[in-house]
Amino acid sequence: MNVADSQRVASALEKLGYAGTPRPEEADVIVLNTCVVRQSAEDKAFGRLNSLRPLKDRNPNLVINLMGCLVGTRDNPRLRERLPYVDVFSPPSDPAPLIDFLTRSETRGAEEAETARRHALMDGDLQLPEQVQGSLVSAYIPVVYGCSHACTYCIIPYRRGVEVSRPHEDILAEAHALVRQGVKEITLLGQIVDRYGKDRPDGPNLSGLLRLLAQIDGLERLRFLTSHPNWITDELLDCVAETPKICPHIEVPIQAGDDSVLENMKRGYTAEDYRRLVAKIRARIPGVSIATDIIVGFPGETPEQFQRTYDLLAELKLDVAHLARYSTRPGTVAARRLGDDVSAEEKMRRFRLLEQLQESVAAEIHARYLGQTVPVLFEEPVKGRWRGRTTTNKLVFCQTHENLRGQVRPVEITWTGPWSMQARLISTEDSKENA
Ligand code: SAH
Repeated sequence: MNVADSQRVASALEKLGYAGTPRPEEADVIVLNTCVVRQSAEDKAFGRLNSLRPLKDRNPNLVINLMGCLVGTRDNPRLRERLPYVDVFSPPSDPAPLIDFLTRSETRGAEEAETARRHALMDGDLQLPEQVQGSLVSAYIPVVYGCSHACTYCIIPYRRGVEVSRPHEDILAEAHALVRQGVKEITLLGQIVDRYGKDRPDGPNLSGLLRLLAQIDGLERLRFLTSHPNWITDELLDCVAETPKICPHIEVPIQAGDDSVLENMKRGYTAEDYRRLVAKIRARIPGVSIATDIIVGFPGETPEQFQRTYDLLAELKLDVAHLARYSTRPGTVAARRLGDDVSAEEKMRRFRLLEQLQESVAAEIHARYLGQTVPVLFEEPVKGRWRGRTTTNKLVFCQTHENLRGQVRPVEITWTGPWSMQARLISTEDSKENA
């Protein structure tokens, strides 16, 4: 979501005539986009802010814009006081405060500032920054802003505001614009992406939106994330199974495998519900890959309760598990009511146990790809090898002198590990022989 938000700011800045620079000391404007989902992310944001301060001392004309979840959607005078060298504060996903500031400080008329503001917000006409045009293979489009679910541990609803779906016309226009600029793969984003359209009863739901997007010529692949077990529908699963452009990959966090922990998290389902959901996803979408998120050390989580998470993960053998150690977030229900009673060492121990488990599960799943021929969408060269992904979102590296950017090519998997695979390109001659 933050990558998508940053791209929006870059696009709005380019329309004002700014170009990017990799060197902060050369910049006229610095935008720091922030995440606060865990304390470590918040600490990192303050660390980066501190490192920008000397630049501002040296160049008083430098404009520093703090954006994103550290700012949130409400005015925060304490933050302004704490950071006097920050010129502009912007909520998540909104380039307007910065654009207003820049147009106003150029002392143009108010009317022109208003035009620039509207221009920056005209999503449909999203123009990628010049540096990434033609080179960006995979792009993100936020389709649901905010979140209204309020899991007890999560700060996102407080910082990104209530759930709002974007009009499908805007999303389609943006997708067309991205494809015209060379994008081959689009990932739709939402905190609970399956809820897309709930607040727009006259428009399409997520399946309908995906079907519309799948009609765009030149677009090779569609993805979406993140799903919530209670909102993912049979219609959506069938839509994925039936539509070749939609990748068979589902990101659906479980968070914990113990029912009373799930209840304390206010997730709204049981471990058994999740188990059944995984079985259903696998039955309806053959060859699907499934990713999950897990938090260890949630307040009150006993070793026995953690063990249930471990056992369930061992049983389900999912493709990916994003693991996090519980981090108290001020203002959330868990922070106010539940404390933080699992020690840092114990959280780490549980984290490592799941990490080791998942490493062996992933290695086992990947080993099944060995010798198989699969289509890979290639994105960019990394240290002399081309990096791409399978439809199931597996990372694949391929040694070749060809320029593969943006191409979908069949490859034969020659090596697999827990985190990535290596492959060899199948030349056209090979594939003719096979045919
Ligand atoms: N709405 C999305 C994204 C949430 S943030 C979703 O539900 O997946 C991504 C992940 O961060 C969450 O899934 C959760 O596993 C983790 N997370 C959120 N709040 C956290 C907290 N307070 N401590 C540790 N991990 C957290």
